[in-house]
Amino acid sequence: MTETPLKPRIRALIENTGPISIADYMAICLADPEHGYYMRREPFGSKGDFTTAPEISQMFGELIGAWCLETWTGLGHPETVHLIELGPGRGTLMADILRVACLDPAFAAAARVHLVETSPRLRDLQKQTLAATPLPIAWHDSLADVPDDGTTILVANELFDALPIHQYVLTQGSWQQRVAGLDPASDELAFAAGPGRLDIRGLPDEIANPSAHGIGDGAILETQPLANAIAGDIAARLARNSGAALVIDYGYERTAIGDTLQALEKHAFADPLAHPGLADITAHVNFEALARAARESGAATHGPMTQGDFLVALGLLERAGHLGAGKDIAMQEGIRDDVERLTAPDQMGTLFKVLAFSSRCPTPRPFPA
Ligand code: SAH
Repeated sequence: MTETPLKPRIRALIENTGPISIADYMAICLADPEHGYYMRREPFGSKGDFTTAPEISQMFGELIGAWCLETWTGLGHPETVHLIELGPGRGTLMADILRVACLDPAFAAAARVHLVETSPRLRDLQKQTLAATPLPIAWHDSLADVPDDGTTILVANELFDALPIHQYVLTQGSWQQRVAGLDPASDELAFAAGPGRLDIRGLPDEIANPSAHGIGDGAILETQPLANAIAGDIAARLARNSGAALVIDYGYERTAIGDTLQALEKHAFADPLAHPGLADITAHVNFEALARAARESGAATHGPMTQGDFLVALGLLERAGHLGAGKDIAMQEGIRDDVERLTAPDQMGTLFKVLAFSSRCPTPRPFPA
């Protein structure tokens, strides 16, 4: 296997301190200040490793922009609204949102735009993408740094899949923490079962008593404490000061056993341990756990709804019709292909889901009727 700048460091860390959790491995791969994936690589687009919905079509962000306006209206046109995006990538989604939402001058006057981004390199890219927007934009390292003195409208597209998860592997009937260690024969990174155990209190019977449900050794269970904590922070904000949030990502609706840790390199799946720092590394989002965390912090939750249904309900087909009107055949076909990619069940339409959080009072209608 090829070396990457991060691999010797991870190897040294394991030699010195012992095998590391999957969460620590993910965090190093994605966020190491020098060689982490988001710090170094250009992940997006056809030349990158993956393409996200806003990079596929402007229609995605435009519809979310319309959602922001409708939500603001549903909240009674508050005078100040913090419009927050977590993990903005290239800044494309926010640019498309603002183009539509600022068509209403009252919204433009009320909106304070905040981008929460941990990668300095991506911040620079976001500044370029958003250079022409009429509103000032503030960047923050974390949601906790965003002023908390008014209504919030928040969006996060494909952020939660990039947050570190823990994995547990069923070993002799008990859930042991899965770790990344070194294979003694090859000295390569390898998965192993570590000494830590899952706290099974309060978990569904299938997980607490796996053998009674025919689940055998080797099964994998994931937990997402950081994702749940961020969902809780968003929800607490909404509960304090009113507002709504949209979390859009790939994931599953009910807690389930299964290994979803994945690495993507040049649009193909790769071994997550093979090229630390050079491949994107993610996991599917547990929407049930996210929604529970949000409710426990005082927000109402809505959905999840599939991305396909959500976009169609917001008017994707009508928007596509307008965008294609009067254009040549190639352009119209391109728009049709984009609609297909965003909504078809065998593409992003079903795997990607939209979960909304909102304040309980006032409650905007976060999903289109
Ligand atoms: N939303 C964008 C990009 C998704 S990639 C799109 O749809 O195209 C994930 C983004 O989240 C990147 O911008 C990455 O740098 C950022 N990110 C990763 N971890 C983060 C964290 N803990 N807080 C804020 N941003 C983070």
